[in-house]
Amino acid sequence: MKPEGWQAQRRIENEYDRALRRLLQRSWQIISYDPALMNPWDFIRRLERLAGTGSFQQFAMAAAKKMVTQTFFDTAATWRQAAQEGAQGRLLLQALRGEMQGPVGRSVELLIDRNAGIIRSMPLDLAARATQYIHAETLKGKRHEQIAQELLALFPKMSESKAALIARTEASKAHTALIQVRAEAIGVYWYEWRTSKDSRVRSSHAHMDGVLFRFDTPPSPELLAGEKSVGNYNAGEIYNCRCFPKPVIFIDYVTWPHKVYYGGRIVSMSKERFRQIAA
Ligand SMILES: [Zn+2]
Repeated sequence: MKPEGWQAQRRIENEYDRALRRLLQRSWQIISYDPALMNPWDFIRRLERLAGTGSFQQFAMAAAKKMVTQTFFDTAATWRQAAQEGAQGRLLLQALRGEMQGPVGRSVELLIDRNAGIIRSMPLDLAARATQYIHAETLKGKRHEQIAQELLALFPKMSESKAALIARTEASKAHTALIQVRAEAIGVYWYEWRTSKDSRVRSSHAHMDGVLFRFDTPPSPELLAGEKSVGNYNAGEIYNCRCFPKPVIFIDYVTWPHKVYYGGRIVSMSKERFRQIAA
């Protein structure tokens, strides 16, 4: 199904996921080269050593760059399309030109750094989980050789779920970040929260669908839905979330009255009232 304009392309997330899996698969081959001699603490040491190698770091940078660059072009195409639809088109197109020198360029660099850092820390996170496993199994009286074999067998599953979580969460965060920075660069501060409309949408997020929010005043969707808060964030900015922000570029394209997050609550607002508070 073709995603609607502002939704992230699943292709970008999937490619990122595959790249991270390939990296971890190769890592597994490297650290398990001689399983017969392995003590579980060797497993940890090899993982940690791997994270520090130059080739691992280079790969982390390349994978991060690719995902962020693809998101950059994908979201730019959406802005260009939006420019064709309305009166402020010229302004939007102007903003897209030379944007790498401004806040958008800085945001791209930050996103690449952030993702490269997360990828570089994957082996260390896996090592931390493996350490817990070794302690727990040692307490049960298991022999070291057996624990080492079990870790080797567990590693592919552990790394697959890690790669999937990072790809989904970070591709979505990058997508939201690039929509936000371009919007704010042209003075668009509000967006409409959209969900991916599939069965995996959290109930708290389903509650946010269609509501208008300010980028700089993210809500706690859980709190608004009467659940325990896990923090304030914009659409697409939390683990496993595929929601996305649709910038309110033209107020006339919004149906009024509309639900707006204002003063810590979701209220129904008329167009006139929204113009006042959005000014
Ligand atoms: Zn969501």
